[in-house]
Amino acid sequence: MSLKLKPGVVWGDAYKALVQNCKENRFALPAVNVVGTNSLNAVLEAAARNKSDVIVQLSNGGAQFFAGLSLADKHKAMVLGAVSAARHTALMAEEYGVCVVLNTDHANRKLIPWVRDLVEMSERSVKQTGAPLYSSHMLDLSDEPIEDNLSVCEDMLPRMFNSGIALEMELGVTGGEEDGIGQDIDEVDNAKLYTQPEEVLAAYDRLSGLGTIAIAAAFGNVHGVYAPGNVMLRPEILKDSQALVQKTHGLVNNPLDFVFHGGSGSDPTDIRAAIDYGVFKMNVDTDTQFAFAKGVGAYVEEHTSAFKYQLNPETGAPAKGFYDPRKWLREGEKSMVDRLNIAFQQLGSVGQSVAN
Ligand SMILES: [Zn+2]
Repeated sequence: MSLKLKPGVVWGDAYKALVQNCKENRFALPAVNVVGTNSLNAVLEAAARNKSDVIVQLSNGGAQFFAGLSLADKHKAMVLGAVSAARHTALMAEEYGVCVVLNTDHANRKLIPWVRDLVEMSERSVKQTGAPLYSSHMLDLSDEPIEDNLSVCEDMLPRMFNSGIALEMELGVTGGEEDGIGQDIDEVDNAKLYTQPEEVLAAYDRLSGLGTIAIAAAFGNVHGVYAPGNVMLRPEILKDSQALVQKTHGLVNNPLDFVFHGGSGSDPTDIRAAIDYGVFKMNVDTDTQFAFAKGVGAYVEEHTSAFKYQLNPETGAPAKGFYDPRKWLREGEKSMVDRLNIAFQQLGSVGQSVAN
């Protein structure tokens, strides 16, 4: 029987069922970073159009921006912006009729208090409404020794699991930089761009009994889009990791839930291979940022005078119909939807929504 879930933000067992369904049917969902209701609504619109479920995520900076950059208490803005985005998503996902995995993106040691406060907000939410605010949170201690990485995850995971929240953790290093976390690709020790299967096994051994985990294993992926030749993806690292964990623990095929960071600009063949090896989530940020900007940019270029004069200097006609923010922001949204149509197709999730 095919899986059916209530539209909205999924968490706990529904999250696990949704992830399992992706892997069994060999497709993945795009995880799209949003910074406000424009990009968030565009993601929901694209998901609904493609009859696919989707992953919405906020980086720490995205969450702060969601709350407003003028707020003096940056930490509080990051927490409240993430809460605001969660409430908007919960309300609207139901209306758009799709299932949404809501995630916070990279959090290094400095950002643990952000995640901790969000987990606390979810605990309160569970008491009030029965549901947490987020489906999952990422902890990215990948620039620290693996022992420190695993012990932080070990410490946080049980509490998250209690509220039905999954943990995404990173092993090895995704090259490039995402919202201030990470480093230039030429500064990273090359070996760290490729996770060792033994590290994945170690993470599985330590963490899988404590809650729900997804692993962002580095296989040469980088954040951002670079000229061809700078990135060498080796998805077989994921395959070897699955095989090692499967063999060691006598499990079914593809026991691990993998996450593909730095999906923008990736080769469709590598994407396909990664999905075959258990990737259910591919992050797209750079390409959708560019798409939004491109849509707005083209509109501004076409109606330059409306962005300088309230009345058209040649005809004297009011330009309100052109500079109304709904006009140009909508062009950004539409262009972002167009880019996401490609992502849903590449990931094979078109028509695969489990929302009933
Ligand atoms: Zn990332």
